[in-house]
Amino acid sequence: MTVAGAAVLKNEGFCPICARSSTFVAKGEWLRDQYLCVRCGSVPRERALMSTVETQFPHWRELAIHESSPVRRGASLKLARECARYQSSRYFAELPLGAHRGGVRCENLEALTFADASFDVHITQDVMEHVLDPASAFREIARTLRPGGAHIFTTPLVNRSAPSRVRARRDESGRIVNLEEPIYHGNPIDKRGSLVTVDWGFDICQRIFEACGLLTQTIHIDDLSRGIRAEYNEVLVTIKPAATPAGDRGDPA
Ligand SMILES: [Zn+2]
Repeated sequence: MTVAGAAVLKNEGFCPICARSSTFVAKGEWLRDQYLCVRCGSVPRERALMSTVETQFPHWRELAIHESSPVRRGASLKLARECARYQSSRYFAELPLGAHRGGVRCENLEALTFADASFDVHITQDVMEHVLDPASAFREIARTLRPGGAHIFTTPLVNRSAPSRVRARRDESGRIVNLEEPIYHGNPIDKRGSLVTVDWGFDICQRIFEACGLLTQTIHIDDLSRGIRAEYNEVLVTIKPAATPAGDRGDPA
Protein backbone atom coordinates (compact mmCIF):
# COMPACT_ATOMS: atom_id res chain seq x y z
CA MET A 1 0.00 0.00 0.00
CA THR A 2 1.10 3.54 -0.67
CA VAL A 3 0.10 6.83 0.87
CA ALA A 4 -2.43 8.66 -1.31
CA GLY A 5 -0.69 11.19 -3.53
CA ALA A 6 2.80 9.95 -2.72
CA ALA A 7 4.94 8.93 -5.68
CA VAL A 8 5.92 5.29 -5.94
CA LEU A 9 8.64 6.28 -8.37
CA LYS A 10 9.87 9.73 -9.37
CA ASN A 11 12.98 10.73 -11.30
CA GLU A 12 14.38 13.27 -13.67
CA GLY A 13 15.39 12.15 -17.13
CA PHE A 14 15.16 12.69 -20.87
CA CYS A 15 11.76 12.00 -22.41
CA PRO A 16 12.10 10.48 -25.91
CA ILE A 17 8.73 11.97 -26.86
CA CYS A 18 9.24 15.50 -25.50
CA ALA A 19 12.86 15.27 -26.73
CA ARG A 20 13.94 17.23 -23.65
CA SER A 21 14.49 16.89 -19.93
CA SER A 22 11.44 15.99 -17.91
CA THR A 23 10.28 14.35 -14.72
CA PHE A 24 8.70 10.91 -14.62
CA VAL A 25 6.26 10.18 -11.79
CA ALA A 26 4.29 7.09 -10.85
CA LYS A 27 1.52 7.57 -8.30
CA GLY A 28 0.64 3.89 -8.36
CA GLU A 29 2.48 0.60 -8.59
CA TRP A 30 1.21 -0.41 -12.06
CA LEU A 31 3.95 1.40 -13.93
CA ARG A 32 2.62 0.41 -17.35
CA ASP A 33 -0.25 2.88 -16.96
CA GLN A 34 0.91 5.04 -14.07
CA TYR A 35 4.55 6.06 -14.65
CA LEU A 36 3.90 9.29 -16.56
CA CYS A 37 6.01 12.01 -18.12
CA VAL A 38 4.80 15.20 -16.40
CA ARG A 39 5.23 17.17 -19.65
CA CYS A 40 3.53 14.97 -22.27
CA GLY A 41 1.59 12.47 -20.15
CA SER A 42 3.12 9.51 -22.00
CA VAL A 43 3.39 6.05 -20.45
CA PRO A 44 6.52 3.87 -20.56
CA ARG A 45 5.54 1.76 -23.58
CA GLU A 46 5.09 4.94 -25.65
CA ARG A 47 8.56 6.14 -24.66
CA ALA A 48 10.00 2.70 -25.44
CA LEU A 49 8.29 2.71 -28.84
CA MET A 50 9.52 6.21 -29.69
CA SER A 51 13.06 5.31 -28.62
CA THR A 52 12.90 2.26 -30.86
CA VAL A 53 11.64 4.29 -33.83
CA GLU A 54 14.53 6.74 -33.31
CA THR A 55 17.09 3.92 -33.10
CA GLN A 56 15.81 1.87 -36.03
CA PHE A 57 14.76 4.74 -38.32
CA PRO A 58 16.66 7.91 -37.30
CA HIS A 59 15.27 9.65 -40.40
CA TRP A 60 11.65 8.72 -39.54
CA ARG A 61 10.45 12.29 -40.12
CA GLU A 62 11.03 11.81 -43.88
CA LEU A 63 9.33 8.41 -44.12
CA ALA A 64 5.82 7.27 -44.96
CA ILE A 65 4.40 6.11 -41.64
CA HIS A 66 0.99 4.58 -41.02
CA GLU A 67 -0.44 4.18 -37.54
CA SER A 68 -3.53 2.14 -36.84
CA SER A 69 -5.74 3.38 -34.00
CA PRO A 70 -3.59 6.19 -32.60
CA VAL A 71 -4.21 7.82 -29.23
CA ARG A 72 -4.29 11.58 -28.60
CA ARG A 73 -1.10 11.50 -26.62
CA GLY A 74 2.54 10.60 -26.60
CA ALA A 75 4.16 8.94 -29.60
CA SER A 76 1.02 9.20 -31.79
CA LEU A 77 0.86 12.99 -31.45
CA LYS A 78 4.61 13.35 -31.96
CA LEU A 79 4.59 11.25 -35.13
CA ALA A 80 1.58 13.15 -36.49
CA ARG A 81 3.19 16.52 -35.70
CA GLU A 82 6.71 15.86 -36.95
CA CYS A 83 6.34 13.39 -39.83
CA ALA A 84 4.86 15.01 -42.96
CA ARG A 85 3.86 11.66 -44.48
CA TYR A 86 2.25 10.25 -41.33
CA GLN A 87 -1.18 8.78 -41.91
CA SER A 88 -3.47 7.25 -39.34
CA SER A 89 -6.54 5.08 -39.60
CA ARG A 90 -9.22 3.56 -37.41
CA TYR A 91 -11.81 0.91 -37.97
CA PHE A 92 -15.36 2.29 -38.06
CA ALA A 93 -17.67 -0.71 -38.53
CA GLU A 94 -20.34 1.43 -40.24
CA LEU A 95 -18.03 3.06 -42.84
CA PRO A 96 -16.73 1.54 -46.09
CA LEU A 97 -13.03 0.67 -45.93
CA GLY A 98 -10.92 3.49 -47.33
CA ALA A 99 -13.60 6.13 -46.56
CA HIS A 100 -12.88 9.06 -44.25
CA ARG A 101 -14.65 10.49 -41.22
CA GLY A 102 -13.43 13.76 -39.72
CA GLY A 103 -10.18 13.39 -41.62
CA VAL A 104 -9.57 9.87 -40.28
CA ARG A 105 -9.42 7.03 -42.77
CA CYS A 106 -11.39 3.86 -42.11
CA GLU A 107 -9.20 0.78 -42.35
CA ASN A 108 -9.39 -2.77 -41.10
CA LEU A 109 -5.93 -4.17 -40.32
CA GLU A 110 -7.12 -7.56 -41.58
CA ALA A 111 -7.96 -6.14 -45.03
CA LEU A 112 -6.08 -2.90 -45.70
CA THR A 113 -7.06 -0.91 -48.79
CA PHE A 114 -3.51 0.47 -49.20
CA ALA A 115 -1.45 -0.65 -52.21
CA ASP A 116 1.46 -3.04 -51.77
CA ALA A 117 4.63 -1.40 -50.42
CA SER A 118 2.87 1.82 -49.39
CA PHE A 119 4.68 2.48 -46.12
CA ASP A 120 8.15 2.50 -44.61
CA VAL A 121 6.80 1.99 -41.11
CA HIS A 122 3.57 0.70 -39.63
CA ILE A 123 2.95 1.61 -35.99
CA THR A 124 0.46 -0.09 -33.70
CA GLN A 125 0.30 0.59 -29.99
CA ASP A 126 -1.58 -2.00 -27.95
CA VAL A 127 -3.75 -2.95 -30.91
CA MET A 128 -2.67 -6.48 -31.86
CA GLU A 129 -4.24 -7.98 -28.71
CA HIS A 130 -7.63 -6.80 -30.02
CA VAL A 131 -7.50 -8.17 -33.57
CA LEU A 132 -9.81 -11.13 -34.28
CA ASP A 133 -7.69 -12.50 -37.12
CA PRO A 134 -4.11 -11.52 -36.28
CA ALA A 135 -2.58 -13.73 -39.00
CA SER A 136 -4.43 -11.73 -41.66
CA ALA A 137 -3.39 -8.47 -40.00
CA PHE A 138 0.29 -9.49 -39.95
CA ARG A 139 0.04 -10.49 -43.62
CA GLU A 140 -1.58 -7.20 -44.58
CA ILE A 141 1.00 -5.20 -42.64
CA ALA A 142 3.78 -7.14 -44.40
CA ARG A 143 2.17 -6.65 -47.82
CA THR A 144 1.88 -2.89 -47.44
CA LEU A 145 5.43 -2.43 -46.10
CA ARG A 146 8.17 -1.36 -48.47
CA PRO A 147 11.30 -3.54 -48.57
CA GLY A 148 13.48 -2.30 -45.72
CA GLY A 149 10.43 -1.19 -43.75
CA ALA A 150 9.16 -2.39 -40.41
CA HIS A 151 6.13 -2.82 -38.21
CA ILE A 152 7.07 -1.32 -34.86
CA PHE A 153 4.56 -2.09 -32.17
CA THR A 154 3.65 -2.74 -28.60
CA THR A 155 1.24 -5.37 -27.35
CA PRO A 156 1.25 -6.82 -23.84
CA LEU A 157 3.03 -10.20 -23.89
CA VAL A 158 1.13 -11.26 -20.78
CA ASN A 159 1.70 -14.98 -21.29
CA ARG A 160 5.48 -14.49 -21.36
CA SER A 161 7.05 -17.94 -22.00
CA ALA A 162 3.71 -19.74 -22.05
CA PRO A 163 2.06 -20.17 -25.46
CA SER A 164 -0.15 -17.37 -26.74
CA ARG A 165 -3.81 -18.09 -26.05
CA VAL A 166 -6.70 -17.09 -28.29
CA ARG A 167 -9.49 -15.57 -26.17
CA ALA A 168 -11.92 -14.73 -28.96
CA ARG A 169 -12.25 -15.34 -32.68
CA ARG A 170 -14.78 -15.06 -35.48
CA ASP A 171 -16.80 -18.09 -36.55
CA GLU A 172 -17.66 -18.89 -40.17
CA SER A 173 -20.72 -16.62 -40.08
CA GLY A 174 -18.57 -13.71 -38.85
CA ARG A 175 -19.92 -13.81 -35.29
CA ILE A 176 -17.50 -13.25 -32.41
CA VAL A 177 -17.03 -16.36 -30.31
CA ASN A 178 -15.52 -15.94 -26.84
CA LEU A 179 -13.33 -18.87 -25.85
CA GLU A 180 -12.50 -17.25 -22.49
CA GLU A 181 -14.27 -14.84 -20.16
CA PRO A 182 -14.35 -11.54 -22.15
CA ILE A 183 -11.89 -8.84 -21.05
CA TYR A 184 -12.09 -5.29 -22.41
CA HIS A 185 -9.45 -2.55 -22.56
CA GLY A 186 -10.19 1.18 -22.80
CA ASN A 187 -10.94 2.46 -26.31
CA PRO A 188 -11.02 6.21 -27.06
CA ILE A 189 -13.82 5.80 -29.64
CA ASP A 190 -15.92 3.09 -28.00
CA LYS A 191 -17.33 3.33 -24.46
CA ARG A 192 -17.68 -0.45 -24.31
CA GLY A 193 -13.93 -0.80 -24.73
CA SER A 194 -12.04 -3.22 -26.96
CA LEU A 195 -12.33 -6.97 -26.53
CA VAL A 196 -9.02 -8.71 -25.85
CA THR A 197 -8.74 -11.45 -28.47
CA VAL A 198 -5.30 -12.91 -27.70
CA ASP A 199 -3.15 -13.25 -24.60
CA TRP A 200 0.18 -13.04 -26.41
CA GLY A 201 3.39 -14.66 -25.25
CA PHE A 202 6.95 -14.45 -26.56
CA ASP A 203 5.90 -16.94 -29.25
CA ILE A 204 4.19 -14.02 -31.03
CA CYS A 205 7.38 -13.84 -33.16
CA GLN A 206 6.77 -17.40 -34.36
CA ARG A 207 3.09 -16.61 -35.02
CA ILE A 208 4.10 -13.60 -37.12
CA PHE A 209 6.63 -15.66 -39.08
CA GLU A 210 4.02 -18.33 -39.79
CA ALA A 211 1.59 -15.63 -40.96
CA CYS A 212 3.82 -13.55 -43.21
CA GLY A 213 7.33 -15.01 -43.35
CA LEU A 214 8.96 -12.01 -41.65
CA LEU A 215 11.27 -12.07 -38.65
CA THR A 216 10.52 -10.09 -35.51
CA GLN A 217 12.82 -8.70 -32.83
CA THR A 218 11.57 -8.35 -29.26
CA ILE A 219 13.20 -5.35 -27.61
CA HIS A 220 13.07 -4.80 -23.88
CA ILE A 221 14.34 -1.48 -22.60
CA ASP A 222 14.70 -0.86 -18.89
CA ASP A 223 16.12 2.64 -18.52
CA LEU A 224 14.91 5.07 -15.87
CA SER A 225 16.90 7.89 -17.51
CA ARG A 226 14.34 7.73 -20.35
CA GLY A 227 11.42 6.92 -18.08
CA ILE A 228 11.22 3.40 -19.45
CA ARG A 229 10.34 0.82 -16.84
CA ALA A 230 7.11 -1.17 -16.69
CA GLU A 231 5.42 -4.53 -16.84
CA TYR A 232 4.90 -6.00 -20.35
CA ASN A 233 6.89 -3.18 -21.91
CA GLU A 234 8.39 -4.99 -24.90
CA VAL A 235 8.57 -3.30 -28.29
CA LEU A 236 8.33 -5.63 -31.29
CA VAL A 237 9.96 -4.88 -34.62
CA THR A 238 8.94 -6.97 -37.63
CA ILE A 239 11.36 -6.26 -40.45
CA LYS A 240 10.75 -6.61 -44.17
CA PRO A 241 14.16 -7.32 -45.72
CA ALA A 242 15.56 -4.55 -47.90
CA ALA A 243 16.23 -6.84 -50.82
CA THR A 244 15.27 -10.42 -51.55
CA PRO A 245 16.98 -12.50 -54.22
CA ALA A 246 14.99 -12.90 -57.45
CA GLY A 247 12.88 -16.04 -57.39
CA ASP A 248 12.97 -16.21 -53.59
CA ARG A 249 10.46 -13.69 -52.37
CA GLY A 250 9.89 -15.46 -49.07
CA ASP A 251 6.20 -14.70 -49.60
CA PRO A 252 3.95 -17.37 -48.10
CA ALA A 253 0.87 -16.18 -50.00
ZN1 LIG B 1 7.38 13.55 -22.34
